[in-house]
Amino acid sequence: MNELLPWQQTLWQQMVGNPKPAHAYLLHGKKGIGKQQFAERLAYYSLCLTPNNKQPCGHCKSCHLLASSGAHPDIFWLMPEESEFIKVDQVRMLIDFINQTPQISPCKVVLIEPAEALNLNAANALLKSLEEPAGNSRLILVSHQVGQLLPTIKSRCIQQLCPTPDQQAAVQWMQQQLTAIDSEQLMQLLALAGFAPLYAVELYQQGVLEQRQQVVEDIKKLLKHQLVASQVAESWNDIPLLLLFNWFCEWLHCILCYQATKDINTLGMADMQKVLSYLADKASLESISQLQAKLLQERQKVLAKANLNRVLLVESILIDWINLLTTR
Ligand SMILES: [Zn+2]
Repeated sequence: MNELLPWQQTLWQQMVGNPKPAHAYLLHGKKGIGKQQFAERLAYYSLCLTPNNKQPCGHCKSCHLLASSGAHPDIFWLMPEESEFIKVDQVRMLIDFINQTPQISPCKVVLIEPAEALNLNAANALLKSLEEPAGNSRLILVSHQVGQLLPTIKSRCIQQLCPTPDQQAAVQWMQQQLTAIDSEQLMQLLALAGFAPLYAVELYQQGVLEQRQQVVEDIKKLLKHQLVASQVAESWNDIPLLLLFNWFCEWLHCILCYQATKDINTLGMADMQKVLSYLADKASLESISQLQAKLLQERQKVLAKANLNRVLLVESILIDWINLLTTR
């Protein structure tokens, strides 16, 4: 069973201490802070036959089933299958499920993760189940981007913002998960993940530290004319495009802050500070703003899954990046 994360204790006590639990909860917050784990534990708790001290007991038939295979007749997981969206057929199966009586547990639980994956038809099909609870069922929706949900979905749920840990709690937890890395790398990961520790661990497992190192080294070589943009763009083929865009956006932002304040603390992570302060001396405000606008525009296209020529796109960003040097 998922552990309760240290920064979730207060929320847990509030939610399970409520004598009249809501029919539908919407747990939202930043990606990578443990919302999914929390939702699953809440589901296990609701299904437990003999909850103990406001926790799932871990011993009853329900807890055993969930722990051994995750297969339990009274839980329904609604998540994207075979595509990035949750489709209306899946919601129809959910409605059938809700209409049955519980087989083992005192109630039935539906977990919807992430709720923003519901396509429009699926979301509309779900509305009725959210509004008129059939039988004894509980719906738990998890969302990383609550702004993307239909207002009609949100208004039918009790919305609960999940806490983000402070830096100390995040670091402590990460130290237990990633025993092999030093504290500098740990802080680097946490910063890359926007201070969301579970996302930081995920990034580590995806090799993001190595990717970051490669990108930083290549940019330095590019500025020294030891590599050309097309070569670099080719060699970055395995690095997620959104990650690259985020880094470039962040760097441009740092350059602007540094130009305005001359404060070295505005230069972000140590690995790029020298490069960024150098660029800040050479680049004009106008050229930085133009590149920022371009990055945001292209980022939207990536998010919209537009068909892009990746290598050409990265190459053109790199060329603009080098050209920053000659604009002031
Ligand atoms: Zn139990």
